[in-house]
Amino acid sequence: MSYPAQIQRLIDSLPTGLWIDGKQTDAIDGNRFDVIDPATGAAFTTVADANGKDAARALDSACGMQREWAATAPRRRSDILRAAFDAVIERADDFALLMTLEMGKALPESRSEVTYGAEFLRWFSEEAVRIQGRYTQSPSGTGRILVTKGPVGPCLAITPWNFPLAMGTRKIGPALAAGCTMIVKPAEDTPLTMLLLAKVFADAGLPPGVLSVLPAASAPPVTEPLLADPRLRKVTFTGSTRVGKILIEQSAHNLLRTSMELGGNAPFVVFDDADLDAAVDGAMAAKMRNGGQACTAANRLIVANAVREEFTAKLTDRIAAMSVGPGYQEGIAVGPLINQKQRNNVARLVDDAVTGGAKIRIGGAAIDGPGFYYQPTVLDEVVPGSSIVTEEIFGPVSAITGFDTEAEAIAAANDTEFGLAAYIYTQGLDRALRVADAIESGMVGINRGVVSDVAAPFGGVKQSGLGSEGGVEGIEEYLDTKYIGLTK
Ligand code: ADP
Repeated sequence: MSYPAQIQRLIDSLPTGLWIDGKQTDAIDGNRFDVIDPATGAAFTTVADANGKDAARALDSACGMQREWAATAPRRRSDILRAAFDAVIERADDFALLMTLEMGKALPESRSEVTYGAEFLRWFSEEAVRIQGRYTQSPSGTGRILVTKGPVGPCLAITPWNFPLAMGTRKIGPALAAGCTMIVKPAEDTPLTMLLLAKVFADAGLPPGVLSVLPAASAPPVTEPLLADPRLRKVTFTGSTRVGKILIEQSAHNLLRTSMELGGNAPFVVFDDADLDAAVDGAMAAKMRNGGQACTAANRLIVANAVREEFTAKLTDRIAAMSVGPGYQEGIAVGPLINQKQRNNVARLVDDAVTGGAKIRIGGAAIDGPGFYYQPTVLDEVVPGSSIVTEEIFGPVSAITGFDTEAEAIAAANDTEFGLAAYIYTQGLDRALRVADAIESGMVGINRGVVSDVAAPFGGVKQSGLGSEGGVEGIEEYLDTKYIGLTK
């Protein structure tokens, strides 16, 4: 198919090689793979396909720069991150359009992601100059304790496709601020956003070797040799719990530092004293953002039976009004899902739920034609234990169940192996804090449907992961602590 001139111009201008040593380069074996537009199901360009030899080149380059980057003045590292922030904002339209092209989300959502994603560069440019240590006296009075923080060393970041920019900047920002070099292996569905970011960084003055990007059609040939190389010191990952566990196992050999942002199964609890209109607004954000393809997405809407019908009717009306189509077209609210596999999975979960007794209020089927579309869907009376409430949906499907008592709501919210985000709607302060305390998750939103904030620690408990990204905690993931003991 042919694209409008603005889109074609962007495609023609994109870096599509590997990014090593501050410039584009072909893969050593010369391989390339297709990048698919999920709105059409067709390839719109190709990108270089890295393998183990390319990984070795990138690691040589990262290790060659590690000492110098760590010794670079914090103010200088900060200035480069800040310049990259400015440059991303200046090119916001290009980044937004590119993410919509390779990932499918509606353009307004891509624009929001540019703002959110760029913010990690600004935030960590500010943190780069605030790395703290301490100097204290030992309790016995016979010694002094000096504690310093230094960069962990070369890092590998493996990122997912659902937020192609922000999941990169959330790792690159703190790594570079701390003085670490980094190799990014972006998701095979969305390799281009990270390549454009690498170019923007180079233009902003980042020395060659500090940041490399290795797109690959298959991850293990690139990641396994890197994890096996004793020069690598850390892996940071956002993606499925399944792959996170593989990476932790592979990190054991060299005892790597690990940060793992894994799957979620967020409960969205609406109590009978909630402001229902606000709760519906919140549910729209928590559920429909990114077409439901977010690890913080409200996977289970757990609604007090006293207000369930009213809430469900209002939510269904709002969802019925959403237009589905190519994310780069004007007025579209919901784009395609990322690929056929993902769409099949959403269809399976909905079909299982309906077979189990759930009622379809709207939607409930894939949309025929090119592209990977699925109808925005509301299911009520979902039976507890259905796969749609035990697995991550990652699609525009709201699964509603009811409850009568607060204890039942808490038990239902915690009835999952995951513990990333949770949402509570109530007008009672005591109840809000009591329930927030009782829910086993790394993040709780009270009367808000989006919790992500650059200044807050993003992370999960249970099978949702290890470590925090963002906030003042985010940079700690890239710092080692050293204790230097002195006599009095
Ligand atoms: P999703 O199911 O959302 O696609 P994945 O966890 O499969 O999430 O993918 C997230 C990232 O992990 C992607 O960059 C992908 O290429 C990478 N990945 C997938 N499998 C492996 C693996 N075995 N080893 C290392 N990285 C992997």
